[in-house]
Amino acid sequence: MSEGNFSTEDPRLGLLLDGIVRLAAGDLNTRIEVSDARDEIDAVIMGTNLLAEDLQIIYEELEQRVNARTQQLNEAHLAMRHMAMTDPLTGLNNRSAFANALAEAQAAGQKGSKRPAILLLDMDGFKSINDTLGHTIGDKVLETLAARISGAVREQDMVARMGGDEFAVMLPDVTPAEAASIGNRILASVVGAMEIEGQHLRCGASMGLRMADPGHGAEELMMEADIAMYESKADGRGKLKVFEPAMLHSRQMRNQLVGELKEAIAGSQLVLYYQPIIRLDTREIEGVEALVRWNHPTRGLIMPDEFIPIAEETGMISDLGGWVLRTAVEQLKQWRSDPLTSGHDFSMRINVSAADLQRLEFVEDVREALASANLDPSLLVLELTESAVILGNDLDRYTLNSLRRLGVGLEIDDFGTGYSSISYLRRLPVDTVKVDRTLLSALGSDPSQPALLAAVLQLIRACGLNAVWEGIETAEQAQYLLGIGCTSGQGYYFSRPLPGEQLTEQLKHHKTWPVTAD
Ligand code: C2E
Ligand code: CA
Ligand code: CA
Repeated sequence: MSEGNFSTEDPRLGLLLDGIVRLAAGDLNTRIEVSDARDEIDAVIMGTNLLAEDLQIIYEELEQRVNARTQQLNEAHLAMRHMAMTDPLTGLNNRSAFANALAEAQAAGQKGSKRPAILLLDMDGFKSINDTLGHTIGDKVLETLAARISGAVREQDMVARMGGDEFAVMLPDVTPAEAASIGNRILASVVGAMEIEGQHLRCGASMGLRMADPGHGAEELMMEADIAMYESKADGRGKLKVFEPAMLHSRQMRNQLVGELKEAIAGSQLVLYYQPIIRLDTREIEGVEALVRWNHPTRGLIMPDEFIPIAEETGMISDLGGWVLRTAVEQLKQWRSDPLTSGHDFSMRINVSAADLQRLEFVEDVREALASANLDPSLLVLELTESAVILGNDLDRYTLNSLRRLGVGLEIDDFGTGYSSISYLRRLPVDTVKVDRTLLSALGSDPSQPALLAAVLQLIRACGLNAVWEGIETAEQAQYLLGIGCTSGQGYYFSRPLPGEQLTEQLKHHKTWPVTAD
């Protein structure tokens, strides 16, 4: 066969070439016709057809695999987006989804008097459920709450978990009155008792409402709903508060105080006042309670009720408490070593906050402070509020028992203000309770009060504990308490809390209290 007649003499060669060109162009359906000759050229054609067949199969398989992978990729993408927008515990939307939905509702604009609204809820008392019953039960409580909130809203409303025990609801189109009514419906649905793993629990909520004013950003609106929610917390909880611009101001004041308090603790703006605790029979001093004040550079003396709660909320309380501990112990050391004041034998009482009991290093701090002042641990009494200890978890118990072993005194403060559970009192490693001043303040005006005081005293004694009575303001009260067998008391009648130097002067010149003017 010569090259010259290659294509002209046998038309099959032309067909073959044609077919190969089409196959190469991607048309895998192409097949070349085989002639009856069944010669070598037909063999090449059949081989080419087989190759085309194989190519087609491989190609189809490849196509299927690509399709499957593409679908998997799409699904993964969707799942990721869902995950990024969903709270894994409750299956509710999360914060980003909420912010997106709010921005969309804002963009959709107002319909008449209707606008989008945000309800922000924060659970009251959830932390103590988590602390005392553990996170598994805590998680179940959150799931139950999520279901209740979802059940209390309308089809078109969006429920989200913002994190922790905070939930939010976006109402896309409501009047302020409608928003408040839905908010209250949610609050009512949330407070009902729930049973989880045999535990009967209750968990209220505080709520802030912010109507979306046009032109306000989603983040800004959410922050303002949060501020309204905090107002509800500060105002006794469990209520719905509507955001008002004035709230921004009080929040700013508080934030300013937070910043300044940090400096106050680090600098030397805190001062301790000391209030004597008196033996009712001999009128000698048996203890002093250290009470902290903040000597503010422009506002003057600020009382602890105004800044202790802030210190507790912001975690500054451990630094503050550490300073109180060291300063008070150092002052006691001075009184005990100065020959002019060492004739008195009394202990130092300091107030300890719930957060301190949660810190493992607290026991070490106490041990160190006492060691560096070279004082016997029995000379220090820690006053713990009832609410701090009654919710006691393992950490509390560990800290209290370690303190007990160290040898410091432990006293329940503000006894009778609510939480009292006698069985709990008996199990706690405390030796003294301080009866809240409200019990005494009713003496005189309420004829049944003397009987109540005697009963309270009997109850404390039955638990094997000693009682200190606070808030004694008159000689009659002191006399009455002595009459029913009380041994220790504290109050304005004996002495107001005094700066250290002032009490030093009294200690130098007086043996009994109240000191008479001379
Ligand atoms: P508290 O432990 O119940 O302290 C007694 C409070 O009652 C003191 O108020 C004291 O000035 C006041 N008081 C004393 N005698 C009388 C009286 O006869 N009548 C009346 N009406 N009140 C009397 P203060 O100093 O304002 O302290 C308030 C609370 O602040 C304290 O209550 C305590 O819970 C807390 N606190 C004070 N210092 C500290 C501290 O260093 N650390 C912590 N964590 N809390 C502190
Ligand atoms: Ca106290
Ligand atoms: Ca008290």
